[in-house]
Amino acid sequence: MAKGKISFDYDYCKGCRLCVEFCPPKILAMDTSKMNEKGYNLVKVVEPEKCIGCAFCAIMCPDSVITVERISAHG
Ligand code: SF4
Ligand code: SF4
Repeated sequence: MAKGKISFDYDYCKGCRLCVEFCPPKILAMDTSKMNEKGYNLVKVVEPEKCIGCAFCAIMCPDSVITVERISAHG
């Protein structure tokens, strides 16, 4: 079960892939079918159920695009 849920502020994404590279379970990927207004490809969560809520993606992102919400097993 997912331990985290991430959301993106897509307007600020530069498609740099740092979040993709640093996600420990490797659940992020570039979505080449989508672009923001600046023309950068966006990131997608391929396997959201495997998110461990570590927030590495948010820490690595130079533009603070990602917000991580931790999901507690105890509610
Ligand atoms: S919080 Fe951790 S596991 Fe979840 S998407 Fe970000 S880097 Fe990957
Ligand atoms: S690290 Fe941030 S700017 Fe770079 S691809 Fe990921 S979300 Fe976009």
